[in-house]
Amino acid sequence: MKPNYYLASRVSWWMEQARFLLFKRSLTASDLGFLERNFPFYCKLNPRHKKEFLVKLEMILSSKKFVPRGGLEEVSSEMEVLISATIAMVTFGWKRLRLAHFHTILVYPNAYFSTSNKTYHRGEVNPRFGLIVVSWRCFVEGFLDTKDGVNLGIHEIAHALKLANQIESDGEKEFEPHAWAKYKSLVPFELEKVRTGENSLFREAATLNEHEFFAVALENFFERPWQFFHERPELYQAIVQLLKQDPRVWEKPEGH
Ligand SMILES: [Zn+2]
Repeated sequence: MKPNYYLASRVSWWMEQARFLLFKRSLTASDLGFLERNFPFYCKLNPRHKKEFLVKLEMILSSKKFVPRGGLEEVSSEMEVLISATIAMVTFGWKRLRLAHFHTILVYPNAYFSTSNKTYHRGEVNPRFGLIVVSWRCFVEGFLDTKDGVNLGIHEIAHALKLANQIESDGEKEFEPHAWAKYKSLVPFELEKVRTGENSLFREAATLNEHEFFAVALENFFERPWQFFHERPELYQAIVQLLKQDPRVWEKPEGH
């Protein structure tokens, strides 16, 4: 099934591409210091992978438009770096993937009132308009505890990645069909494990539907890969195949 936002997607992809070519953003020494202090994933990489990460990060920073909303005065360069670094982390398995369809990031200071369903939101993705929306406060809270498996940034980027996989007009290739098929075949069974409490790592939001399940799975995949691997090895391995990376490589098993 082809999503009905095909044309809008094509136009926004060109806008994103143009921005990328016109406004190359280079990381400064202070950006690098900021990353070292605040982004654990980056700190753990070896020098070669750090270099690859920075190339990817610059590509993402250069191609996204950041827009303050809800009374936020500006999106600071730290905010831009942290949000872009989260995209770079989740898509680190692909050299060039940058989620081109999602060209604009809206940043609210706090949880915001969404007119679409009249409730307060912490974040959302809007494929029709190519938007990723985050509340900065909730985004930062996700990074305060890096081991609790709750991270709004990873959560929303996961939603964007899963949607991007359905969008063919963005010029990007996401999941390998066999890896996606393997992952999908496990979902009903694994979702049930969360419902029955046999998988106690995933928070309850994972049981809402397959989209939330995927987003919560990725929060755990990056924040506590070893625990995830020990509890649900088959699901963990399926996500390694899907994302083409294994975060266990960068860190020692918990308790060691
Ligand atoms: Zn969600």
